[in-house]
Amino acid sequence: MPAGRHFLQIPGPSNVPDRVLRAMDFPTIDHRGPHFAELGRTVLDGMRWVFRTEGHVVIYPASGTGAWEAALVNTLSPGDTVLMYETGHFATLWKELAQRLGLTPVFIEGNWRGGADPDAIEAKLHEDTGHEIKAVCVVHNETSTGSVSPIAAIRKAIDAAGHPALLMVDTISSLGSLDYRHDAWGVDVTVSGSQKGLMLPPGLSFNAISDKALAASKTAELPKSYWAWDAMQSPNGKGYFPYTPATNLLYGLKEALAMLREEGLDNVFARHARHGAATRAAVRAWGLELLCQAPEQYSNVLTAVMTPEGHSADAFRAVTLENYDMSLGNGLSKVADRVFRIGHLGDFNDLMLCATLSGVEMGLRDAGVPHQAGGVQAAMAVLGPRGAEDRAAAE
Ligand SMILES: *Cc1c(COP(=O)(O)O)cnc(C)c1O
Repeated sequence: MPAGRHFLQIPGPSNVPDRVLRAMDFPTIDHRGPHFAELGRTVLDGMRWVFRTEGHVVIYPASGTGAWEAALVNTLSPGDTVLMYETGHFATLWKELAQRLGLTPVFIEGNWRGGADPDAIEAKLHEDTGHEIKAVCVVHNETSTGSVSPIAAIRKAIDAAGHPALLMVDTISSLGSLDYRHDAWGVDVTVSGSQKGLMLPPGLSFNAISDKALAASKTAELPKSYWAWDAMQSPNGKGYFPYTPATNLLYGLKEALAMLREEGLDNVFARHARHGAATRAAVRAWGLELLCQAPEQYSNVLTAVMTPEGHSADAFRAVTLENYDMSLGNGLSKVADRVFRIGHLGDFNDLMLCATLSGVEMGLRDAGVPHQAGGVQAAMAVLGPRGAEDRAAAE
């Protein structure tokens, strides 16, 4: 094993803080015993706080994919049409999952270089005079491309079309890193996961549920058992779960929520914004191209960078791992080997970012990827308290 800490700079799983690791290092307790209820209530309330909802929250012992499935099977019936938007790889996977469940996705094509377009969604909903579309599904932070979709504007688009479809949003890589408001933005089901902005290991996922979605679940006919919201509700009310929860991950979740509360969500979001801006400053200085083309949709969770034509992003990532013990995210499906992704989310600070960008810059040199030096310098100029003005000017 190389000396020092491995740099896990993929856009999730993110670095798990020592505090969270320590908090999980306790004996597993009886999940039906008297001590469990307080833990259960604390994490369910805490998740309501991060989702910014007064509504219902469900916690599954599952990866994010499970919570995608839960959102669909609880609210929809076989053959239902769902409107989905091709922001990138994760939106495509959610669409394929919907197909396998027997739903009929209408997929608005995208070029993987920006977020979802509310006007395109509104146009599709206007055409749907018979209200065949039962749900609009959008990925908030598309982790494969580094672009963010405007959820509040998509809500407005649905309302402007006077359409009753449910709005479902995947926040697996944005919750706890980017501003998100389940209630204020009128989202019906929000899907999330533990291993990105929430700073936990993989293994937990979440649904936040509006009253409208809960009402839809009473008549939805897709088969469900493990994912059924109604089985969760009554035990959850007392702080318990219908089957064995991932108790030790819940210890970690309690600690992660405490960390987010101590820092304050607005400060957490500002920190991510600073790291996003600094990373983009580095990319510009290197003379490389960002995959996301829309500045208002740049992700502050990760940055996807294109390598120049004829230069393998995977070869560069392999060299960087070998020489500097740092993992960077790969290009997925359509952009395989054409992009690498720098994760700057979760438990992360200015110097960790400088080290990360140093590793990228040295890796570019080692792999012979054409670039200009000075990216780290450019990032440093917009970091720290003195960097704020330059940051504003740079973008
Ligand atoms: C990571 C991710 C997923 C998949 O989550 P798993 O935990 O791997 O199942 C889905 N959507 C987005 C946006 C993601 O970032």
